[in-house]
Amino acid sequence: MPEFQSVRGFHDLLGEDLRKFRHVSQHLREKLKLYNFEEVVLPVVEYLEVFQRSIGEVTDIVQKEMFAFKDQKGRWLALRPEGTAGAVRAYVQNRLYALKPHVKLFYEGPMFRHERPQAGRYRQFHQIGAEVFGSIDPLVDAEIIQLVYEFLSELGVPSVIEINSIGCRVCRPAYRVALKEYLEGVSEHLCQVCLDRKDRNPLRVLDCKVPTCKEAVRGAPKMVDFLCQDCTEHYAKLKEYLQLLSVPYRENPYLVRGLDYYTKTVFEAVSPELDMTLVAGGRYDYLVEELGGPPTPAVGFAAGLERLSLLVKELPREEPLYMVLPFGDVMDYALAVVKSLRSEGKRVELSYKRAGLKKQLELANRLGVSYVVLVGEEEKAGGFYLLKDMETGQQVRVEFNPAL
Ligand code: ATP
Ligand code: MG
Repeated sequence: MPEFQSVRGFHDLLGEDLRKFRHVSQHLREKLKLYNFEEVVLPVVEYLEVFQRSIGEVTDIVQKEMFAFKDQKGRWLALRPEGTAGAVRAYVQNRLYALKPHVKLFYEGPMFRHERPQAGRYRQFHQIGAEVFGSIDPLVDAEIIQLVYEFLSELGVPSVIEINSIGCRVCRPAYRVALKEYLEGVSEHLCQVCLDRKDRNPLRVLDCKVPTCKEAVRGAPKMVDFLCQDCTEHYAKLKEYLQLLSVPYRENPYLVRGLDYYTKTVFEAVSPELDMTLVAGGRYDYLVEELGGPPTPAVGFAAGLERLSLLVKELPREEPLYMVLPFGDVMDYALAVVKSLRSEGKRVELSYKRAGLKKQLELANRLGVSYVVLVGEEEKAGGFYLLKDMETGQQVRVEFNPAL
């Protein structure tokens, strides 16, 4: 083993994995452009308080998973564990609310969480996320879910979209009380962590992955039965729009998210194969205000690029690779051939080894070359080169005169 290893949970992305990763990212970016989202590049570091205020103090992310540290002046900073908090901070700081009736932003980049690493769960991972600021209309929620659904279907990644409404300031308090009461009754079946959660953040118990907890919450009261009129109508409209848009979904009355800022709509796209969430999001109508902006409803989502890459089975075929092999005193001519091929948009390697034909062809094979271009003194003198198809062995003469 080499002396230096990457830090646990931090990975190099390369080769086929990276090609899949880029494929996912490119596809989602194109989709976001079609929906008129504009990119924003956000800092990786924010003041710790930005995350504490938005994600919530009693959440796994803030309590256990954050890479937080003091800078030289003793101020608490943190590597971002997610993108929404920073996006909202930027929206407020740059006064984007003053510019347009609504604002649609997307971001892409690394996120950091101190979690136990496993397949599809890392300490540095990447997300593309999108946010719409300025509209309460459930049509926006529906369009966001439609975007996610189209993206996943076109990518060929099987998933199920689950939705729920977790209410608002008006109706959630009564639900919390009812849920807490229910959890008291089943407390002997709850894990140690959930015993603490049940008092401080009971909704999070619904999200616990421990089997006995999952079993225990089966008969719990459902938020949908507690929704106020406004939230009931909002949720009904969302479902109506999803049907109108032919987006299949499953209602999951126990779906909650690990971040406190959500209101009304929450949703996830879950992979049955990985048994993990690929894309997650929802509405957060109070967060802009919470971070010092004017009251502004908003809704968004974040997609985990590594998890999605794991599910990409087939990549589009790569452009064929050409390799120019110079023989003899012909480098000027060979370089002109290389330049001309690249100017036509072809992917071209120039052989850096001086060797005989057999050795050169062997080398080209190992590099995965589709076509070799043979350039010798005869070719230079005659103004042509030989193009050899490595698969069929067929060879054709191509006229080439760099002076023209
Ligand atoms: P989980 O329930 O799997 O822990 P989460 O609810 O913490 O997910 P979000 O904060 O909603 O996830 O992040 C959105 C997406 O980002 C997830 O659906 C997932 O695809 C990805 N993601 C989250 N945490 C990680 C991680 N540690 N490693 C890789 N991808 C991650
Ligand atoms: Mg998590």
